[in-house]
Amino acid sequence: MKLEIDLRGLWENVRKMGAEGPQETIRFPPRKVDAPPWNTVDTDPPTGTTGEPGIAQPTEPAVPIEGGALSEESFKIVEGPGGLLQKDGQQIMMYMPGHYPERFEKALQDGNDGNRMHVAFCIHLEKMKQNGAYDTKYFATQRIDDQFSIHDNKSDRKGHAALKVCKYCLNKLNYDGYAVPGRGKGAIFKDFSFETFFERYASFFSSHPLREAPRTPQEKGYTKDWAEVSRRYRASRNYCCEECTVDLNDYQYLLHSHHVNANKQDNRDENLRALCIDCHSKQPFHDHMLVSIKARHLIAQLRQRQKMPAPANWSHVFDLADPGMNGVMHFLQHNHAPIPVVGQDIQDESEAVVATLELAWPSAQLAIAITVEDAVAARQQGWNIFSVEQALATPEHVLGALRQSRFT
Ligand SMILES: [Zn+2]
Ligand SMILES: [Zn+2]
Ligand SMILES: [Zn+2]
Repeated sequence: MKLEIDLRGLWENVRKMGAEGPQETIRFPPRKVDAPPWNTVDTDPPTGTTGEPGIAQPTEPAVPIEGGALSEESFKIVEGPGGLLQKDGQQIMMYMPGHYPERFEKALQDGNDGNRMHVAFCIHLEKMKQNGAYDTKYFATQRIDDQFSIHDNKSDRKGHAALKVCKYCLNKLNYDGYAVPGRGKGAIFKDFSFETFFERYASFFSSHPLREAPRTPQEKGYTKDWAEVSRRYRASRNYCCEECTVDLNDYQYLLHSHHVNANKQDNRDENLRALCIDCHSKQPFHDHMLVSIKARHLIAQLRQRQKMPAPANWSHVFDLADPGMNGVMHFLQHNHAPIPVVGQDIQDESEAVVATLELAWPSAQLAIAITVEDAVAARQQGWNIFSVEQALATPEHVLGALRQSRFT
């Protein structure tokens, strides 16, 4: 599929709209958000009534991306939402499997000595694109098991290496606050996990690779009676999240029972916690929790409708917001930005919800949106919207706009 508009041009259009009035259609191929679901609160079918398997099912069958050499054409369009990398609407990483003999040997021993895994469109990739160094040198992959295929450029020797993430990429995304002084670059790099990385940005992509064959709850380690145990436990908590307190009586499938000590056989009450899938996905050691932006926005809407208190500090903002906003939030926190509202609903004249804005400052009519659809709709209601990518590239613009709004 050929993308006709790249992200930058698209967001430029969005930004110009204030002056030029709304455009008829804005296409954004990588994301497929259904026709306005925000005011109808329809949701994906339950991802299992047992609660715990906790996995938002991939929305589409996997596209075999693994190991695909990127053509000149595809290299040019890999820039995805939020500065991430995408191919066919799915999140990917890019790397050069070819190594010179000596480097190849070293990489097999220690992945740190091999080529880097790119997770964002960093300045290094930008340079490669300008130099035209893309032709078949770069491969796309979605592997998350640290076993990346590499080969020797001078012979046909092949192998697998635990290549490490590119630091330019971490910097560009401000991953975990990587670019913020004092956050500890070394530890962020050392603790980096490709699996966690993919989970964090799940909302930015419409489809996700199938990472494993579907398994029954028992194969996943749950007890035979888990469905019943989970149902009973969640009922005993009145179908409210024990972390953020959102009431999910009307959306019980969005509430999971979580095993605190990670032992899925230990179903004692004191080892269980009822968690909405947003809070659940932010618990440590959760693999394969890919939560759709639809589900996260629905939970954000419910929290707002139930008049739950807005976050009072940044740690609360981090708890409530989409984890893909982590880089932006670290910048804002570091620069003492005012505390934003998380998941602000925007309504049109008929009071239909037309957009959900991830981080918003309503008194300034300013927000950072994840999807272009949200951005376009909010702009039409007079809001000043930044994309995640813009907020990462020029956080000073967001801060400047916030400061200015206080004096007008
Ligand atoms: Zn990079
Ligand atoms: Zn919650
Ligand atoms: Zn859990």
